[in-house]
Amino acid sequence: MSERQEKVTPASGDDAQGGNDARGMALHTKIFLGLVIGGATGVVLNVWLGGEQRHLQWVVSHISEPVGQIFLRLLIMIVIPLVFASLSLGVAGLGDLRKLGRIGIKTFLYFILVTTLAVFIGLALVNTINPGGRLPTEVKAKLLETYGGEATQGLARAEGVSFGIKTFVNIVPRNPLAAAVRMDMLAVIFFSLIFGIALTRVPSYRAAPMISFLEALGDAMVVIVDLAMKLAPYGVAALIFSVTARFGYDLLLSLGLYVITVLLGLAIHLLVSYPLLIRFFARLNPWRFFRRIQTVMITAFSTSSSAATLPTTMRVTEEKLGVPREISGFVLPLGATMNMNGTALFEGVTVLFIAQVFGVKLGLGAQLIVVIMSVLTAIGAAGVPGGSIPLLILVLQTVGVPGEGIAIILGVDRILDMCRTTLNVTGDVTAAAFVARSEGFLPVDKSVEIVPAAVDS
Ligand code: ASP
Repeated sequence: MSERQEKVTPASGDDAQGGNDARGMALHTKIFLGLVIGGATGVVLNVWLGGEQRHLQWVVSHISEPVGQIFLRLLIMIVIPLVFASLSLGVAGLGDLRKLGRIGIKTFLYFILVTTLAVFIGLALVNTINPGGRLPTEVKAKLLETYGGEATQGLARAEGVSFGIKTFVNIVPRNPLAAAVRMDMLAVIFFSLIFGIALTRVPSYRAAPMISFLEALGDAMVVIVDLAMKLAPYGVAALIFSVTARFGYDLLLSLGLYVITVLLGLAIHLLVSYPLLIRFFARLNPWRFFRRIQTVMITAFSTSSSAATLPTTMRVTEEKLGVPREISGFVLPLGATMNMNGTALFEGVTVLFIAQVFGVKLGLGAQLIVVIMSVLTAIGAAGVPGGSIPLLILVLQTVGVPGEGIAIILGVDRILDMCRTTLNVTGDVTAAAFVARSEGFLPVDKSVEIVPAAVDS
């Protein structure tokens, strides 16, 4: 057992990621209960009173939404320092540039290939099921009318988004602090990578204080995550309640086939592609893998944000799967921004669906462009709720489908966002496990038993 694991193990006995508290209930069980109770209460009140009911609206906007937002913000406020500390330390820890190059290439190839696979699954389903072709015209007209306003806002946001050579130039920040303030993750990642590389080139006695500083910064962020996750059962309940209490369930019915297509695609990727990758690439038992990371999946589901989940993702991946910090510190911050399998699948299905609704025929060539654009925009999308919507409008417009068409799906987006974010984050952990295994870190088959004190299943 490494020194670091020995260091964190005793502290993790009552931690946020699944240890038992004094009364014996594991935190992830409490979070799960929060999810179920919050979700069910919201649904019941919605059905009973109607999502528009005044008192219910008041409870949502004055109680559950603020509580949920505070929880979300506690997690998001850690993201910039955590990404900076863990990425630069991860890179510095990898030591030489050749190793970094090898791991970097492996990670990016994995991200791109698995994301592309996800889009193909989505496109195969949407072409077969044809949900857009079967959407009744009156439903289409009503949705365009109801969500037209929001779609116009989305279109305005999409105006500011362009995808071209400038996108790549912008990855290099002019001012890393300004990038951090804007939460421009690709630029922050770039600076952190370069900073880590630079640290490896500074004489070690000079680099040592900075490395200690970054380690302390990372450790302090971990403590904050633990504190925040103590609130998770309530935060998760509040977030889920806010969504289910206000949601228009009739929409789910009118858009049923589309929603089923997206969910089926996500389910196939989650239950077929991931287990195969976990089994054959990470060489872990998929069932145990999923059990170990359930806190991560629930956090992703309830926050709809890869970025907000990142602190938990890192903690769990290190402690429960035994992925060393230099790998998790490198792969996971990158993954939270660039590896969005669920988002890419959702984008592919949605573009085709809206094209079907508007009767725009997309041939093989156009669909190939949809694949490429979905993968690229999933890399560029921010890991926040609805982060992919402005980019999705861009993809629609690129293949000649009216961007306003986004109005049709906006009403169900939050529910789909929760599901696709769960996949995005699970994909990141899968990638980290694969990279760790390929670098010879996880001892075959024993890997998930690596930190006995954190084992609770
Ligand atoms: N909410 C997603 C995430 O954070 C991004 C998106 O698809 O909108 O991973």
